[in-house]
Amino acid sequence: MDEIDETKTFKDLVKEVHEPGLCGSCGGCVSFCSAGELMAIGFGEDGRPKYLDEESCLECGICYIICPQISILDQDLKDTYHWVSPVGRFKNIVSARSTNPEIRKNATDGGVVTSILHFLLEKKMIDGAVVSKKTAQFAREPMIATSYEEVLSAAGSRFTGICGVEELSRFSTYSPTMFAIKEITNMDLVKIVVVSTPCQVHTLRKMQSLHVVPSHVVKFVFGLFCTENFSFDVSKKRDMEKILGVNFDDIENMNIREDFIIKQKNGDTKHIPLEKMEEFARSACLACSDFANDFADLSFGGLGSPEGWTTVLIRTDLGEAIYQDAIRHRFIEELDKSQGGSDNLAQEQLEKISEFANMKRERALKNKNMDDNEK
Ligand SMILES: Cc1cc2nc3c(=O)[nH]c(=O)nc-3n(C[C@H](O)[C@H](O)[C@H](O)COP(=O)(O)OP(=O)(O)OC[C@H]3O[C@@H](n4cnc5c(N)ncnc54)[C@H](O)[C@@H]3O)c2cc1C
Ligand code: SF4
Ligand code: SF4
Ligand code: SF4
Repeated sequence: MDEIDETKTFKDLVKEVHEPGLCGSCGGCVSFCSAGELMAIGFGEDGRPKYLDEESCLECGICYIICPQISILDQDLKDTYHWVSPVGRFKNIVSARSTNPEIRKNATDGGVVTSILHFLLEKKMIDGAVVSKKTAQFAREPMIATSYEEVLSAAGSRFTGICGVEELSRFSTYSPTMFAIKEITNMDLVKIVVVSTPCQVHTLRKMQSLHVVPSHVVKFVFGLFCTENFSFDVSKKRDMEKILGVNFDDIENMNIREDFIIKQKNGDTKHIPLEKMEEFARSACLACSDFANDFADLSFGGLGSPEGWTTVLIRTDLGEAIYQDAIRHRFIEELDKSQGGSDNLAQEQLEKISEFANMKRERALKNKNMDDNEK
């Protein structure tokens, strides 16, 4: 680990992350606070962590070190995962999809994430998976799925819940996975997969390197590509409807690939440039530099694949072993030339992913250096 001159605590997290608007509300600091039972810190009404009882703080520094916006452990993670620019280490890039039509119908892209989870559960290689269930068009919550039905219910971006958007005053596509990881501590689960965005994978990998419980039960990390997440209130919702040119109630599903894609219930599809969506992105996202989920075992996105297929970056030996097993057992299949794959597919995919990774890193640099008045 890098040398730290003095232990920084939650007080420093407030100064360096909350005050400049960089807190992404992942919940890592609150969930894994060493003085959790004493309720030293908790969440304020704005959804951001704050001191509840400063006297109880043990000044251990765990909250500071595991925060995804703090870079103390970044070099250690890069060394551990043999990181190389611009998309991290990987062994292969492929396009794949589920062989299960039920999963494909419900998935965001090719349903590869859900199918590999199904495979791991069926073969009893895991006890459960931390996934994120859609509860409204712009609302998700993390859950621990232990059956095929549960992983299927959390697949994709189709809205099937009973909660209408008008009932919510705040809309967010972000799902605080760290809360579900905290729950694992109280459950009889010893082998878990976590599916998450890059920021939370950073927190998780840092916890694993510091042996913070229960990160030891996380056997596989499935990372989603991530350009940005959105969070806004009712008035911003109306602005967004104007910009998108659609009423939220008419939206069938949404996805991000090269741009923001909205499928409407009447069958129309709209493509919105990502720059247009930036004003609705959370400020923490604009200062986040990881697009391709560089420290996952397997990373997944739609970018670089034909519609209905998922791009998979196979990164670690562990990731490669389960991906190949899922192929062998026919839970997923790879795109070949007869289905529209090109000779240069992997190279084309790498170029696109690299372009997005570089764009995100430059954006983060620009926004991290901004002073508060500019935000
Ligand atoms: C916020 C967000 C931003 C993304 N941005 C991009 C992008 O810019 N470019 C790109 O190519 N791909 C992006 N993706 C990834 C893409 O949307 C698909 O998730 C990925 O291609 C896997 O598709 P699939 O059909 O194989 O997954 P599925 O089989 O549909 O499974 C998706 C899994 O992701 C989980 N999940 C969904 N939303 C969240 C969330 N908010 N937090 C944690 N877990 C979640 C679901 O519970 C499910 O287990 C993004 C995903 C998210 C959630
Ligand atoms: S006890 Fe440790 S983890 Fe909890 S707030 Fe204090 S410094 Fe952070
Ligand atoms: S980003 Fe997460 S760990 Fe960092 S301050 Fe916010 S809630 Fe805490
Ligand atoms: S852009 Fe970064 S901070 Fe925002 S949800 Fe994605 S990974 Fe997390």
